[in-house]
Amino acid sequence: MEAATFVFFDLDDALYHKSSGIHKIVANRIAQYMKQLGFENAEEKSYELYYQYGTTLNGLIQLGYKIEPLVSFYHYVHDFDLETTTVKADDKELQNLLSKLRLRFQEKNQILKIILFTNSDSRHAYRLLKHLNIESFFDDLIYFELNHEHPKPKLESYEQAMQVGMNLLKKDPKCQQLFHQGENIQINSYFFDDNKNNVIAGTNFGWKCCFIDEHLQSKEEMESKHQIPTVSSIHDIDKVFPELFE
Ligand SMILES: [Mg+2]
Repeated sequence: MEAATFVFFDLDDALYHKSSGIHKIVANRIAQYMKQLGFENAEEKSYELYYQYGTTLNGLIQLGYKIEPLVSFYHYVHDFDLETTTVKADDKELQNLLSKLRLRFQEKNQILKIILFTNSDSRHAYRLLKHLNIESFFDDLIYFELNHEHPKPKLESYEQAMQVGMNLLKKDPKCQQLFHQGENIQINSYFFDDNKNNVIAGTNFGWKCCFIDEHLQSKEEMESKHQIPTVSSIHDIDKVFPELFE
């Protein structure tokens, strides 16, 4: 049977290091936003909501706050200058990794779809992909505007991600031919994210997941308790899933 591979990448703190500064800046801006809503221990509460509801925004909405999510929340928390962070502009190392992934599949004439799978808004996502100069490697993007009703780690989010992948296959000439011949295509899905709950949900959904944990604080827990391989950086994923790169 023919096989197709979907590779889903989270964006924030996954395609760049968590210590690059964005995480802190966004956390501060979320805390500022929550202070304006009347929260006293805003930063602590924001993390609590993030881990419980997938995103702080989703948590606030669940708590009953009437928030216009895109402009009021996301554009506010992502309103900062990337130059104040250490996220690499034109990240050659990341480009090499993605290009190695593409080439490996091209050489073997196998189908690969690379999809960004983030809970962040599209403006933030495109800005970062442009900054890193990796936009062209992605076949499609899933972001807040598409999955806001069910952000990761909700099951529906993963179902939607698969649908996005399937839609790409339907447009792929090789797949069209296979579908036309009545052939089945076996799908293998991979997923890289720095949020524990997201990779646990992905694993339960049947994807091969890798947890990105910059300081490897949860490596032991994720590998022994959940059997989810853990790396400190996106640049090490070829060691976890060599079949994608060799
Ligand atoms: Mg992330």
